[in-house]
Amino acid sequence: MNRFPDKAGAPGGRAPHETSRAGSLWGSRAARASFSSIGHPIARPAVAPHMRLRVRAPNVVRRPTIRTMTAIRFPRAANDPFPPELELQLAGLTLRGTSVAARATAFAVPEFGVALDVGRMSPAIAAQPVVLLSHGHLDHLSGVLAYLNVRARFHTGEPTRLVVPESVAGPLTQALALMPGMESVRKRLRLEEVIVGVTPGERVKVPGGTAVPFAVDHGIATLGWALRRPRGRRPVLVYAADGSTAPFVADPGLLDAEVAVVECTFLERNRKVAARLAKHAHLSDWVALAPKLRCDHLVLAHLPPMPAKEISVLLAPLAERLPGRLIAWAN
Ligand SMILES: [Zn+2]
Ligand SMILES: [Zn+2]
Repeated sequence: MNRFPDKAGAPGGRAPHETSRAGSLWGSRAARASFSSIGHPIARPAVAPHMRLRVRAPNVVRRPTIRTMTAIRFPRAANDPFPPELELQLAGLTLRGTSVAARATAFAVPEFGVALDVGRMSPAIAAQPVVLLSHGHLDHLSGVLAYLNVRARFHTGEPTRLVVPESVAGPLTQALALMPGMESVRKRLRLEEVIVGVTPGERVKVPGGTAVPFAVDHGIATLGWALRRPRGRRPVLVYAADGSTAPFVADPGLLDAEVAVVECTFLERNRKVAARLAKHAHLSDWVALAPKLRCDHLVLAHLPPMPAKEISVLLAPLAERLPGRLIAWAN
């Protein structure tokens, strides 16, 4: 099988220079001359073409070929199912990850040693010993198997915790117990210790401080997370996860943080009903709430897969009304 065809389509993936130097003995003038000078008859051998390529011309040094991979840049087209990982430095924090509506959401915050959701695995996510899960929708959870695999194998001896809504803990533990291939994880990690169920208000110690969950409105048990540094006056980061803006209309102080990461799944005017039905936030909800928000930076995540230029046009009314700085998690 020609796995790595070169320009000449040489079998076996040889580089072009290799084909011309060490190619068919009988197709090479240098080789023909050399062989005829020592008296060999010049005749075409009855061998298959791929065999001919293995015959080396004399006095030709064959250099090893190292093939490197070409990095594929994620295309930026709308409806791209493979969103890129982005990074933001804010308030002394790194926020690195992916967030596109219904595709995947996962943020690494290395200063706190946490990943906020695990809808997609990446080296940055795997490096965090704690995952704070907001809810059980697969765009926030589906990287959990890859995360546990890497943590069990390559972070042996380090603590690993999946902190999840209490109602998710049991079903997730049972599902992972049945999942084929989990033996390699189970012999290194006790899932009953790794998976920790919590309810709103229960403080969780994490490497960089504390994480406090709060309830959000998404139709199923869903937690937002407030991250506090030790002795921090206000949360440095609040992650609002998926859900309507109802809890923040009732208490805008929930988002009083240096950085508030919120969802905004629907942007277009004709998507308001869809937002209500799915218990997601619509841009108009954030526009209405904006003057009451006291966060320094509002990061809109879980955006639809639209080009950033189009998104920024639609977000202009929100930027105008927001006292803090508005950032769209898009590129
Ligand atoms: Zn989601
Ligand atoms: Zn969801």
